Amino acid sequence: MKTIYFDNNATTKVAEEVLEEMRPLFCELYGNPSSMHTFGGQIGRKIRHAREQVAGLLASDPSEIIFTSCGTESDNTAIKGTLAAVPDKRKIITTRVEHPAVLTVCRELENHGYTVVELGIDRQGRLDWHQLEKQIDDDTALVTIMYANNETGVIFPIDKIAELATSKGVVFHTDAVQGVGKIPFNLSKSNIDLLSLSGHKLHAPKGVGALYVKKGTRLSPFMLGGHQEAGRRAGTENVPGIVGLGKACELAAKNTKEENKRVKCLRDKLEGAILEKCPGCQLNGDKDNRLPNTSNISFEYIEGEAILLMLDKYGICASSGSACTSGSLEPSHVLRAMGVPFTAAHGSIRFSLSRYNTEKEVDYTIEKMPEIVNKLRQLSPFVTK
Ligand code: PLP
Repeated sequence: MKTIYFDNNATTKVAEEVLEEMRPLFCELYGNPSSMHTFGGQIGRKIRHAREQVAGLLASDPSEIIFTSCGTESDNTAIKGTLAAVPDKRKIITTRVEHPAVLTVCRELENHGYTVVELGIDRQGRLDWHQLEKQIDDDTALVTIMYANNETGVIFPIDKIAELATSKGVVFHTDAVQGVGKIPFNLSKSNIDLLSLSGHKLHAPKGVGALYVKKGTRLSPFMLGGHQEAGRRAGTENVPGIVGLGKACELAAKNTKEENKRVKCLRDKLEGAILEKCPGCQLNGDKDNRLPNTSNISFEYIEGEAILLMLDKYGICASSGSACTSGSLEPSHVLRAMGVPFTAAHGSIRFSLSRYNTEKEVDYTIEKMPEIVNKLRQLSPFVTK
């Protein structure tokens, strides 16, 4: 049975073109870019080229790109590096729906005397703009708000938020891990100061990420040690990963617009058919203002995990909004923040597509979903027969 992979917000397949670009860097061109000899020096050129490719996708300057080990490191660097650079300010503004790479860091900082404001969102996953305007004050060191939500795909009005933060003299960071490679960016025309991205979400390998730092932004290094990345991030570079990320960004810059049209058509077909054929289900998040590849659907009175297990039997990979924590099934913090009722949040499934999905896969899933939902509803103690 062939795997049907609809879990691309969790991670993506490495593109063949990316792998080809990386291959020589393991056993042939394995020098250390910091070495004085020519063998190492040529690796430095590869990194410079990758930096240009990443900068190209974001319409930024190569000097504004720092390579990291993942999206989580980029987020940690942005938050902790900003706070260290502006030690007199003690307030951070974020949202209740951030990825743990931001939310856990902010909550931990509360234990160190910071005030953290977590902005609420509405039923469609949209930000409370008035609360944001009200909360930015003279004590605010940082506003950190994600570009697009990993669970629902809902996109926040980041350029508008960045403009507001800049007008108040506050540093603005966005976790764009789910946005980069799926929607176009033009950072030369934006007030975003810091932006995180991660290789494995855009068909580059795991273990590499980047942080965009707008020229002039004050940021203390998070990783201390050697002088790599112009003293902004210590640690010998993951050269194959960096080269892979560069190639993935080049491919995204070239192809994303066309590919996204196709991916959106497939997503809409899958979503439309499920909503039509399965009674008692609803879409979570703003229908229009979201990533073209993501669909988050709640199925009343059935467990998301049960749906996932049955999908898995058919070789279909998706993900659920619940996380099994300390023996109890906690519904997703994102869906709860949106006010999705407990029973619906528990039965939520995220389908996230990529350019490698086909119409045949979508049709097969559309055929199986009503059967799965009907079977589980018959077993549900909440459904009156
Ligand atoms: N931020 C968002 C929105 C994410 O979806 C993820 C990963 O799922 C991360 C950050 C963390 O990225 P990484 O897995 O590269 O550490």
